[in-house]
Amino acid sequence: MTGTACFLCGLETDDISQDFDTRVYFVRCRRCGEYRITMECSSNPRSADETTLAAISAATRQAAESHSTLLLRTDNWDQVAAAHKNTPVRQKVLKVLRYSAAKSRSPGEFFRIQEDFDYPAFDAASPQECRFLVSHATDSGYLESMSDDALTLTVKGWDAVEPLTGTAGTPGRCFVAMSFAEQLDEAYLLGIKPAVEQDCGLLAIRMKELHHNDDICDRLLSEIRQAQFVIADFTGHRNGVYYEAGFARALGRDVINCCRDTDFDLLHFDTNHLSHIKWKMPQDLRQQLTDRIRATIVAPAK
Ligand SMILES: [Zn+2]
Repeated sequence: MTGTACFLCGLETDDISQDFDTRVYFVRCRRCGEYRITMECSSNPRSADETTLAAISAATRQAAESHSTLLLRTDNWDQVAAAHKNTPVRQKVLKVLRYSAAKSRSPGEFFRIQEDFDYPAFDAASPQECRFLVSHATDSGYLESMSDDALTLTVKGWDAVEPLTGTAGTPGRCFVAMSFAEQLDEAYLLGIKPAVEQDCGLLAIRMKELHHNDDICDRLLSEIRQAQFVIADFTGHRNGVYYEAGFARALGRDVINCCRDTDFDLLHFDTNHLSHIKWKMPQDLRQQLTDRIRATIVAPAK
């Protein structure tokens, strides 16, 4: 190992440590966030071209922003990268707005975006692209820029992130009901989220990703009301998922049920007659979900 450079972006790390038992490095990088990487993968990554590394850095940073820590391995490397490559510009701008909402604890509060360090948070490939996205969001009235580089999210910006809705939900918004267990973060980050956002161009909302001060239960019900449809993953059989799926169904929302094959036989009686997506790995979950969403959910008008 050479010095303390980040394996992904080369920046000097804030912290790096290794666990010889599991043969895993833990890295904290100002740009890539906190992530773990196997020693095998760090010395011999499958592909280390600039585009792939930028995409992996985007994945680790965004996972860290949403309180998850990705473990990079040779066998998930390409898949981790794929989830952050070819992101449509519209999605990148939305990522800027969602990041901005997370950084402002209340409306009107100022925050800063540091191009050199924050560009992976938006799937941008460089500080230049980050500057472009932020100035687009500012020119379009979503952000307001102050003289000293401080930014604030405008009412229009807040509306884009947390729209006010009637009873029908907001077209394109998908609430994801699933366990918060760390072992399932990969299923979300590499399966559900890219299926909804990359493949179908819609927006995925998972409670674990939201930074908020509201009462969690109120916020949860309000998020389900705002959603056009819900993806419920029953892996782990958390009671909350059954509750959230039932509430969504009672509101008339489409609910797409999923469960990992290992947990399939334990599905409770009240849902096992509904057709569930049975998945093995995040890859096939992504594929099956994309097919199901395209087949059953009416895409919002662009
Ligand atoms: Zn880094």
